Amino acid sequence: MSMQGMTTQGAAELADTASTGITIERIVKELGAYDGPPLRIMEVCGTHTASIVKSGIPALLSDKIRLISGPGCPVCVTVTAYIDRLIDLAKTGKEVLCFGDLLRVRGSRLSLSEAKAEGAKVRMIYSPFEALELSAANPEQQYIVAAIGFETTAPVYAALLEEAIQRKLANLQLLTSLKTMPEVIRWVCLQDPGQITGFLAPGHVCAITGWEEYRTLAEESGIPFVVSGFSGEELLCSIYALVQLSGKGEVRNLYPRVVSRQGNLAAKAAVEKYFEACDASWRGMGSIPGSGLRLRSAYASFDAGSDGLSEDRMAGGCRCAEVLTGRITPHECPLFGTVCTPADPHGACMVSQEGSCFNHYAGTNHNGTRQRR
Ligand code: SF4
Repeated sequence: MSMQGMTTQGAAELADTASTGITIERIVKELGAYDGPPLRIMEVCGTHTASIVKSGIPALLSDKIRLISGPGCPVCVTVTAYIDRLIDLAKTGKEVLCFGDLLRVRGSRLSLSEAKAEGAKVRMIYSPFEALELSAANPEQQYIVAAIGFETTAPVYAALLEEAIQRKLANLQLLTSLKTMPEVIRWVCLQDPGQITGFLAPGHVCAITGWEEYRTLAEESGIPFVVSGFSGEELLCSIYALVQLSGKGEVRNLYPRVVSRQGNLAAKAAVEKYFEACDASWRGMGSIPGSGLRLRSAYASFDAGSDGLSEDRMAGGCRCAEVLTGRITPHECPLFGTVCTPADPHGACMVSQEGSCFNHYAGTNHNGTRQRR
């Protein structure tokens, strides 16, 4: 049976390839031989981007199936005004706590790491909960947690606030730049109608939100969404399903052991308690209505001044905005691999291990040959 002839029902059952008799070898063979209309499949999760490169999947696909990365790396989509604000806070004697990758992203002038070298108070943390112990141990010091991320991370910050309130920690605040996925995906679809033929829905995000809200997006856009796991085999099955579903505004959940229709209700309730939807600024994309989360007014005392951080001055020549929306591949940026490398990143997409430029660089062989993407 050819890929063109395979049924949608078959695609829906790909999560259990054994029961359908479709082996991974056959999927690889058919994806490599695909000769239908050109397909452009966008993954919108930075972890998917990294897994696709590590698994060598692009090299297995026909030239007619192109994988492109979307705006799913939280560090990559953070605007410069947010970094600038963290630096300002760190220079006033407050101590900024953030993950390591954010340290290296440039604001309009400096990165947090560079500001630290100039004397700003910045500390790298491995978990936001380290902030609780630091705040309790040093009540005279004000701590600012850099709270970026998507629906996956928001419950962590809700839990952090819950415990900070229980422990009556008054010296802990968040600077939030939390974002939500469906609105930015809708925005991407509207920018270039017809350019994207399928989405690998974000698996981690869907574990929290559930897959139901992607049904609305699929029906609105006429583009299929497949919720995928993260192993190479799971991704291949999901790409295969997207090929089968091409042209159909439907959702398939091929990650059912983790993702349900409604998602994690307890996590959603915790987020709902502390946060509300707001407009959010995305690097290179501007403000997208309803695509962010901000602290509710009842918890304003925990906000370090997150409103109005929209300025976005990308480094000269950086084309992150086009990379993040799938308009160009990282290789098409003239600075890729020369001025901009993981060791010396020029733009945000080269910093994080979830960044598209970082992963394309990692997928480029030392002798200059590239994995197809
Ligand atoms: Fe920006 Fe570097 Fe990517 Fe070019 S290669 S778009 S400069 S991050």
